Amino acid sequence: MKIGIIGAGFVGLSMGTVLASKGHEVVLIDIDKAKVEKINSGEAPFYEPGLDELLRKHAGKNLKASTGYEALKNCEIIFICVGTPSKQDGSVDLSYVKDACEKLAEILKETGYVLIVIKSTVVPTSTEKEFIPILEKSGKKAGKDFGVCMNPEFLKEGTAIRDFLEQDRIVIGALDEKSGNMLERFYRENFPSSPIVRVDLRTAEMIKYASNAFLATKISFINEIGNICKKLNIDVYKVVEGMKYDPRIGGHFLNAGIGFGGSCLPKDVRALIKFAEKLGEEPKLLKSVIEINEKQPERLIEIAKKRVGELKGRKVAVLGLAFKSGTSDLRETRALPLITKLLEEGAEVIVYDPVAKLPDELNGSVKIANSLKEAVEEAEIIKIATDWEHFRELEKMKECLEGKIIFEGRRIFDEKPYGLEIEGICW
Ligand code: NAD
Repeated sequence: MKIGIIGAGFVGLSMGTVLASKGHEVVLIDIDKAKVEKINSGEAPFYEPGLDELLRKHAGKNLKASTGYEALKNCEIIFICVGTPSKQDGSVDLSYVKDACEKLAEILKETGYVLIVIKSTVVPTSTEKEFIPILEKSGKKAGKDFGVCMNPEFLKEGTAIRDFLEQDRIVIGALDEKSGNMLERFYRENFPSSPIVRVDLRTAEMIKYASNAFLATKISFINEIGNICKKLNIDVYKVVEGMKYDPRIGGHFLNAGIGFGGSCLPKDVRALIKFAEKLGEEPKLLKSVIEINEKQPERLIEIAKKRVGELKGRKVAVLGLAFKSGTSDLRETRALPLITKLLEEGAEVIVYDPVAKLPDELNGSVKIANSLKEAVEEAEIIKIATDWEHFRELEKMKECLEGKIIFEGRRIFDEKPYGLEIEGICW
């Protein structure tokens, strides 16, 4: 099948390479010329396990990237996977999806029936009220001359390829029966073991927001419990151990720490808050979820100050820049507010991440270490901001850690290794 994907970011490119590996002819469209060139040369524009390998195999063969929408002609299904970032006020910015729809409308003028699938995360009713009217500028009628589905994406950065191959559920919101059936057939043929949920367009849009809001709530919940536990000398991870066997609770997404980041949870919760307010609702719980999350990095500073006094002039190593392990993505990483606050406190900051690069705004104000050893050798205080497995190597660096304290914002060590001084953010 010839499949078009608009937006070759984490979602679009991960999905595109998986579909190419299943033998489809995939056309990726992106406005970023450098990204397109990289993809066509078989190189991933960002770090994602397994992506390089798939790209090397399929780029230039049955996977091609382009900046021109004309390449979408003759596609049977076109997925829209462009970004939906936050606006200044926290509401969702739909301009990239609208722009993609404007350009697609030009292509629709010259094509036969094609199914257009919105994969980007968009607030409920966006597809009906915003995107379909733009697509119909083509002179064609949605539900008759072209199909429309809303199919939210649930993959996770760091495991994107595997997540797409083994989707825990596929949600298909459809404008009409024909569109829904076409997408369902496509998924059944390619991913036969994934359960499919069929709903209407706005329900599909809401399922994505409700899922992310729930995950974010779990994290802020356990962080709040952890903050209370810390005062009582209780290990919150042991508390979770005792909770997780209750099938109504489960153990996933209850890792207390410095808070959630990434390209989805913070922006989607904020967008849902704004959207709810526009509808005249006051989403108190969701607001608290964000508030708790924003305070966690400060807690890691407070804990250190309580233990070692003022941080002015002290050398502090921040281990980890990425918002989580397995990715180079810095979007909404908790490392950034942590570093900013450390600099405000007058600390000298040394950062190390095995994959992620320093964001431009920190250039010149922090020192970059080339290895874990270099970072901790130079510092007197160590703070862990990302859950990289690699940081367990600290256990083997006792000689450079003598007299130093490690403050964990992420749980790296379940048992404190003998000879290391470690204190957790909420354990
Ligand atoms: P991204 O920023 O990594 O990629 C978006 C791409 O779209 C960029 O390469 C950009 O250049 C391109 N683009 C923007 N406007 C375009 C246009 N008009 N035409 C062609 N290309 C255009 O974004 P992402 O992380 O892949 O997320 C895409 C969507 O999927 C968002 O709505 C996001 O919320 C959602 N989502 C993301 C994840 C994730 O883990 N990253 C998971 C699930 C859902």
